[in-house]
Order: sequence, then structure tokens, then C-alpha cells
Amino acid sequence: MNVRTRIAPSPTGDPHVGTAYIALFNLCFARQHNGKFVLRIEDTDRARSTAHSEQVIYDSLRWLGLDWDEGPDVGGNYGPYRQSERGDIYAKHAQQLLDSGHAFKCYRTTAELVELREAIKASGENRALKPSDLILDEAEQQRRQKQGDAYVVRMQVPASGSVVVHDLLRGEIELHWDNVDAQILLKSDGMPTYHLANVVDDHLMEITHVLRGEEWINSAPKHKLLYEYFGWDMPVLCHLPLLRNPDKSKLSKRKNPTSILYYQRMGYLPEALLNYLGRMGWSMPDEREKFSLPDMLDAFDIQRVSLGGPIFDLEKLKWLNGLWIRESLSVEQLADKLIEWGLNRENLLSILPHIQQRMDTLSDFIPKTAFLGSGVLGITDQSFSELKLETADQLKILQFSLWRLETLSHWQRDNLFTELKFLADALEIKLKDFLAPLFIAVSGSTSSFSVMDAMALLGSDMTRARLRNGIDVLGGVSKKQMKSMEKAYRGINSGN
Ligand code: GLU
Repeated sequence: MNVRTRIAPSPTGDPHVGTAYIALFNLCFARQHNGKFVLRIEDTDRARSTAHSEQVIYDSLRWLGLDWDEGPDVGGNYGPYRQSERGDIYAKHAQQLLDSGHAFKCYRTTAELVELREAIKASGENRALKPSDLILDEAEQQRRQKQGDAYVVRMQVPASGSVVVHDLLRGEIELHWDNVDAQILLKSDGMPTYHLANVVDDHLMEITHVLRGEEWINSAPKHKLLYEYFGWDMPVLCHLPLLRNPDKSKLSKRKNPTSILYYQRMGYLPEALLNYLGRMGWSMPDEREKFSLPDMLDAFDIQRVSLGGPIFDLEKLKWLNGLWIRESLSVEQLADKLIEWGLNRENLLSILPHIQQRMDTLSDFIPKTAFLGSGVLGITDQSFSELKLETADQLKILQFSLWRLETLSHWQRDNLFTELKFLADALEIKLKDFLAPLFIAVSGSTSSFSVMDAMALLGSDMTRARLRNGIDVLGGVSKKQMKSMEKAYRGINSGN
């Protein structure tokens, strides 16, 4: 068999370490079988996908040394590799399912869907929305069709019973249909959902093994059914364990930096980060902790993946990175790494416009920009003590900004300004006073250049890590305070 694996990231937001982790295992699996590793861009969410984010995915995976054989940027025989360019293919396949009766057009409005769900709940049942709930009588269907009402295409799913899905690592998994909705396959704008596009593409791209995150297990029954409806063989499924925070919760940017860009900016070596990702649920046969990608490729065996949730621990990563810096680099190589990391021309060109007018000598450069090259700043509560606002208000500003910026999808200076200005106005605090604690948390002092520019240069994960640190050094937020802050924050957002 010609083994073909793939990574299928969605280009929304920053490139996630979880994407690199899954890519690494797909790459190793493909190489071990002399197969091909494909990169497919899943950009059917047109509102959230950006070309910038797509480019950053390429750059950061390549920075890590994860190269693909086929993809939007390198071509291949199974393209296009960008889902937004495959609209006709999905429409054709959705039509095929409509023709065979395995899918139906659903004209239900949002309000009706809410009503239907409520009715199911009220009847004491705990189940998903099924075709029998959704399908209208013939006359009504005709009427809405004639009127040109919007519709989606949904798949037929069984009302009850269960299905067994085979997983390379987990064996047989039994999943129940009760909670599986009549999944939307084509949205009202004609765009496919993940499920349709993913299955059609995996088949047409002749993917033989789907190694993906554990969070997709619940999609497996729908996918299995779609393969059956189309009369296709299903690829082998393998759900890898999710990366977790030290408290065992799913690794999320709320608690931990998850962007590859953060790790780049912190000065982790790509070799070390990749090594660490290779240790997530996997180990070398001799249990050695430090190993390179070629070492991993030589020794790879998917059966050595253990399913207990691997903890993505920053301390451990830092320790490993230190080993790489101290043991594996000559002084010349270290100098090159530093230049590549922060002292390169491109980086200087993005920083200098902000400080040139504040410089008298070249030696001003390092002190004025040291905060950009640092990790989390060594600030204390004293650092905030000169500010006008009370500590409670400073905490509120930091926490509200953290929440507000968590959801910002385009991390650019002007957007940052809009969000922060919104909060300052909502809290009725003068912008200057509002920004002061942010200055301290993000830049270490109020005398540095615009904090919005600093945030834009630092990126979202680093900025958020510093805001969290600011909250900690100010004494943190108690559970009780958090409750009242959440309430106040909701009030702001609902315009009350
Ligand atoms: N686009 C999905 C994601 O962003 C792909 C999941 C899969 O591998 O099937 O994770």
C-alpha cells in the first residue's frame, strides 16, 4: 500500500503547537512507510480564514523542519489542496448524496431549530436533532423551495443504536447515534462543512491513514457513514491523545501559550520544540529524552504512542531547550541562531521605527528594546505603585483586556487600539490612565513606545502571558472578585 497521511489545518489565527504535534506524527508515520505526507488547507470558514494565517502555518511548520510532499504551495497530483478552491467537488458530492437519498435539503429556520430542540428537551428526551424532526411535509417543502428560501444540505443519520469505529491505537470504539445530529454537509452559502469536505478530500487525495487529535473521535461515526454512503473504503483512523495543561485540562490559549510564534519569540530552538512534541505521548525505545527528528524517524513506531494525555509542560520544555543550546550548538552556531532569532534585519526594521526618535546613541537600542526580547517580565507590584488608579481598577483593566484580546482574530495595532479604547470608554476611564497598567505589564514601564505597537510586535500569546503575569504580581484575582468581574464584563459586552 502507498501510505499517504495528511495534516489539515484551518488558517484561522495563530499556528497551534497542536498542529505541529499532529503533523510530526503524520510525517513520521508516512516516512516510516516510505509514503507521502500531504498538507491540506481547510479554509471553508471564509469569515475566519486568512491568507496571512495560511502563510504563517507554512512558515512555522517549515521552521520546525516539518516538510510536506504535497500542498497548496508545493503542488502535487491531487490538488487543489486548498478547500476554498474545491467548491465544485463538494457541491457535486452533496448532490450525489441528495440523489441517492442519503442527504436532504433542510429549510428549517434558526428559530425553528431552537424550537425543535426545546421541544425535544421538554419531552424529557436527551437526543440530537434527527431527520424525522427536520423534514417538512411535501407541500411546505415545495412552498419554501418556490419562495427561494435558504436551505442547508444535511445527512441522514440513524435515530438510535450504535456504531463501532476501529482506531489504530484504541481498537474498537463504540459510539451511539442518539446524540448525533443530522449533520449539515453544505451550508446555506453553498460552502461545505468540515465533515463533507474532509471525507471527500481524504478519499480523493487517497489518504490511507488519518492521524488526528482525539477531539475528532465523535466525528468518526458520521465520517464512517459518509464513506458508506459514497461506497468508499474508509482510511485507517488513529486518534492521538490531546496535549494538556499541567492541570490536565485541554491545552488552551486561555491558560498556556499555544502559538508556535510564541515559542519562536521566546527563543526556543525548533529542534528542541520538535523534540519536545515528539515526547508527547511517545518515547524512544531507549527512553532517551533528547533526540532529533532523524532519530525519531529511524525509531518511529506508532504503537509506542501511549494514550494518557501528555502534559505540555513549559518547565520541561525549557529544560530540554537548555540541553540543546548547551550541548548541541557551537558558539558560532549559537551566534547564528541569535541573529536568525532576533537580531536579523527584518526584525530590526519592524522595531526601529518605534524607537529611532527616542535614540541619541546606538547604545540606546538594547535598553529601549530589552523588553521585546525578554520572556515574561521581572516586574513586581511596586512597578504599578506610581500609577493613578487603585490596584483593584488596575486588576480589572488587565483582566478585561485579557478577555477582550483573547477573542481578537486579527492581531494588528489598529484592532488592538479599537478593542482597548472600547473597554476604556465602557469603564469610563481616560485612555491614558487605562493604558498605564497595560504599559507596565506588557512593556515594563510607562516610558516605552506605544503599548499597542508593543503588543503587535510581541504577538498575542506573549502579550497575554504578560497580562496574566501582571495580574499575578498585583496579587491575583480571588474567586469572589472573579465572579463580580465576569458579571461586570458581561454587562459591558451586552451594552448594559
Ligand atoms: N481542519 C481540522 C482541524 O483544524 C482537521 C481535523 C482533521 O485532521 O480531520 O483540526
